[in-house]
Amino acid sequence: MTTRTIIHVDMDAFYASIEQRDNPSLAGKPVIVGGVGGQRGVVSAASYEARRYGVHSAMPLKKARALCPEGVFLPVDMEKYEAVSRQLRSILCSYTPLVEPLSLDEAFLDVTASIALFGDAEKIGREIKDRVRNELNLTASVGIAPNKFLAKIASDYRKPDGFVVIQPGGEADFLRDLPVYKVYGVGKVMARRLGDHGIETVGRLAEMSREHLRRLFGKQGEHLYELSRGIDDNPVIAEAEAKSISQETTFDVDIDNNDELRRTFARLSDRVGARLREEGLVSKTVGIKVRLADFTTMHRERTLLDPVSSDDQILSVAWNLFRAVPLGGQKVRLLGVVASSLEHPSGQLHLFSEQGEKNCKAMRTIDNIRRKFGDTAIERASGLRPTGENRDRPYDKGLSPFSPTHEKEAEGETAKGRRRKAKGNKRDETAKTKPRS
Ligand SMILES: [Mg+2]
Repeated sequence: MTTRTIIHVDMDAFYASIEQRDNPSLAGKPVIVGGVGGQRGVVSAASYEARRYGVHSAMPLKKARALCPEGVFLPVDMEKYEAVSRQLRSILCSYTPLVEPLSLDEAFLDVTASIALFGDAEKIGREIKDRVRNELNLTASVGIAPNKFLAKIASDYRKPDGFVVIQPGGEADFLRDLPVYKVYGVGKVMARRLGDHGIETVGRLAEMSREHLRRLFGKQGEHLYELSRGIDDNPVIAEAEAKSISQETTFDVDIDNNDELRRTFARLSDRVGARLREEGLVSKTVGIKVRLADFTTMHRERTLLDPVSSDDQILSVAWNLFRAVPLGGQKVRLLGVVASSLEHPSGQLHLFSEQGEKNCKAMRTIDNIRRKFGDTAIERASGLRPTGENRDRPYDKGLSPFSPTHEKEAEGETAKGRRRKAKGNKRDETAKTKPRS
């Protein structure tokens, strides 16, 4: 296997840092982001000031309050963080198309092939940190290494604002004194079991034979054997393969008027289409989500022979899918449109007809105007609303237990999920109905 160069970028205390950035009076204060309205739930992010009190993410908010009574507790503002995440992604994607987001604030980049163009990996890593600081007014920690496992360990090594490079050949030195729990896949239980065998550092782990580790821990033992030597062949899976773009809206009042439902689909399709074009992607699978008045929620999707990115094409598929949904005489509470199986249209561009190209340009112009003057500046005829506008209620999304994140703004869908989806595609119209349980 040829030597690869992987960069792991991890934003520092992402949500909390954004809140501090946007409200200077919070600078230097313990900021804790989490829960709905700050009342329930767990900590989503804690500023470094809050971490000094022992507060960390996934901790119940109640406990965080007890540990840090003077903390500033803020609700999760997912729309805002997603917007910053998109800005981050566009910085990362300017260095390589091989960007694999792990979450809103973390991604792997395979820059092996980018080095000829941008200079060595250290230069790219420094530039990413500078751009994050200058363009986003935030800090990122960067790790550079020959594989994902080491790059992630490296970015974590000197947080916050870290910059750590592990050179090929330097793996063993770097890992020797690292505690075993830093190894991916080693949880508390495994760390304790390793401790029982006198293994507390990765260096000690690396002294064990493959046989011995297999006997102790089975298949996972083999994995540990490789990782302890800094071996990890997992490829960086590009973002385009690993995500979907979706928009949904909850009506103020449940709806059964077909014209209004179609106009809503048109608006959602426009937005999904705009996001696709903004990111230079096309979609091979278009899906819809329909929630009825009694909260029964249904998903339908169709995989297309030719990938699409135009508003009209998305609308047409979405509307056809919707017409086959059994409403059982009920009104509709929520509609959503999802584009998945995303890909870069490279190589197919020459297939676009002249008319297609003109349409494409026109749509990009509309996208630009909307970006400048707001969503409602231009609407196509099918999206025009007569009276009684259905306001989007984004705050509904986060509250509903029936809309897992991947349905709203699915970034970083897992490979497993994709396979499941691919399987589902074959069933197409017979996709299952998810009743409220
Ligand atoms: Mg982070």
